Amino acid sequence: MQFKGNYLIRGKILCCTGLHIGGVADAIKIGGTDAPVIMDRMTSLPYIPGSSLKGKMRSLLEQRHGDKWLTEKGNPHNCKDPGCDLCITFGRGAEDNIMAGPTRLIVRDAYPDEGTIGNWNDKEDIMHGTEVKGENFLNRISSAATPRFLERVPAGSLFNFEMVFSVYAPDDLKRLALVFEAMSMVEDNYLGASGTRGYGKIAFSDVELLEKTKDDYTSGEDWKPYQKTADATTAREIMAALK
Ligand SMILES: [Zn+2]
Repeated sequence: MQFKGNYLIRGKILCCTGLHIGGVADAIKIGGTDAPVIMDRMTSLPYIPGSSLKGKMRSLLEQRHGDKWLTEKGNPHNCKDPGCDLCITFGRGAEDNIMAGPTRLIVRDAYPDEGTIGNWNDKEDIMHGTEVKGENFLNRISSAATPRFLERVPAGSLFNFEMVFSVYAPDDLKRLALVFEAMSMVEDNYLGASGTRGYGKIAFSDVELLEKTKDDYTSGEDWKPYQKTADATTAREIMAALK
């Protein structure tokens, strides 16, 4: 199995509604009044962990292709089939060393874009890229309201995202299409917490698919737009162009 080249998928993630991806403290403080979002320690600004996005993409594909990839107990899919498109694309448990080559997809952490940081700085009610939203939880018997305060990244914020997809086998182009299918599904689902209550609707915008072949690395060539999808700017359009 030989490395043939990389594809770069990049663009913006637009928060169509408030986004809450909890930090570690969140899990410990369940029911507390303080639900922080995950922050980059260097900048004290929120970011979208690549693992959150990748995990959501994977789980939605498992549901979409439930006949192939959904497990009986609903646990995350993991198999030993050397031809499994899902495991080859998104990865296997480290102990399952199967001759299918490296995990094809890398999803990087997504950081806020410059314009968004400027907008956050201009608004008094936004601190460290987040606003605080009070939510009432009603006691079902007494109807007493218990307020809880949730931090969230405000709607309209943009993050720069980047994914790298490596090609080793002829079937990998089909697996690349799977990535865009998953991105489209995330847009119709949600990222982070409280999605069923309106949080975490996102859209991928200004999406670009670029390529760099094995020889481009040797000769020092930069990324080039992938011709077949050069006019497409959304996950859905790229998916359609790849077909
Ligand atoms: Zn599998």
